[in-house]
Amino acid sequence: MAGDQSLLKRINRMAIVRSVKLRPGTFRAHLAAATGLADSTVSVLVNELIEEGWLRADASPGRRRAAGRRPSGLTLDGTRLALLGAELGVDYLAVAACDLQGHPLLSRLVDYQHRDAPRSLGDLMALVAEAHHRLARDGRRPLGAGVGLPGMVSSDGVLRIAPRIGWRDLAVRPLLAEALRRAGCGDLQVSVLNDANAGALSEYVFGDAPAVDSLVFVSLGHGVGAGIVLDDRLQLGHAGLSGEVGHSILRPGGDPCPCGRRGCAETLLSQEVVSREVTGPGHPVLHLDELLRRLEAGDPAVRLAAAAAGEHLGLLLHNLVVTIDPAVVVVGGPLSRLGDLVEAARASLVRLSGASTSHRPEVRVSRFGSSAGAIGAAGHVLQQLLNPLDRRPRASQGH
Ligand SMILES: [Zn+2]
Repeated sequence: MAGDQSLLKRINRMAIVRSVKLRPGTFRAHLAAATGLADSTVSVLVNELIEEGWLRADASPGRRRAAGRRPSGLTLDGTRLALLGAELGVDYLAVAACDLQGHPLLSRLVDYQHRDAPRSLGDLMALVAEAHHRLARDGRRPLGAGVGLPGMVSSDGVLRIAPRIGWRDLAVRPLLAEALRRAGCGDLQVSVLNDANAGALSEYVFGDAPAVDSLVFVSLGHGVGAGIVLDDRLQLGHAGLSGEVGHSILRPGGDPCPCGRRGCAETLLSQEVVSREVTGPGHPVLHLDELLRRLEAGDPAVRLAAAAAGEHLGLLLHNLVVTIDPAVVVVGGPLSRLGDLVEAARASLVRLSGASTSHRPEVRVSRFGSSAGAIGAAGHVLQQLLNPLDRRPRASQGH
């Protein structure tokens, strides 16, 4: 049947791309063994993928054969296709584009105050459309756009709740599609996912090969969340809501949290908490740039607040690490720019390990900084294309 044939072809094509992504410089002759496809099939599909801008063949100097033909190692082509990503932050909008290897092509971050959802999503998609047009002018074809959201995105693609911006039960994808259509990009496929999950994908999809496939990304900002990658996929849980570590309880009976519980991690280590420690209660939340400025100026109140939040982060990370046993823990989101906070978390993690020598993952800061959510949302587009049979990350697909 035509549909089956076309799905089979997509599976075979992406098996080749995945193989090249995993081992850059792979030769055609090795791809048949790596993918289980016939040599002739590999040959046809590789030529197509080169033609379309997925792969490029690089002649390898010094490996000239007797007949004079150089074998060509295959790598992902970084010149013709692009991936778009966007993040709707609590107080910012971010858009980024990258090539198939995750090299940033453009990025934009603007401060933003949300009013209503259609307007915010429309403004975000206007930035995406602008990026799309720029890529097209540079001769690149975008393969799709991913959008990271600051809340729980359930497996039916609905934003269940984004407490920091007051949105709830919102079918986001139709609004995004409509906004893109109005901006003249109606043909751009769009997917949605939670921002911490996007952060995890930024590290997983675009990390150095071979990919570390047991990774936890903890996103720290106005809220706290985690994205978990195990066995080559995002772990989304029963309803798509795993990783809500901001609502794991670190202090039973502690301060009330907007989620309805008490003593959640978010009541101890969010941007609001750090800001309130610095200014006292009743003041507007300090912008992260302002916190950084004060930290660099040696303001002891910021240092103390960052250290206290880091202490709690260490406890949160410890509990995550012994539960999941990741190889790498990546700390991202705006608050990860506070070096004192991350250092305090590392120290707290070591202290909590006591005499135990197990569970000692690498802990590092996100390699994409403030673009991690947007780059990871772009990575989500690639991850979905590379895995045409993968129906499990439904949280991201929506209606
Ligand atoms: Zn909570």
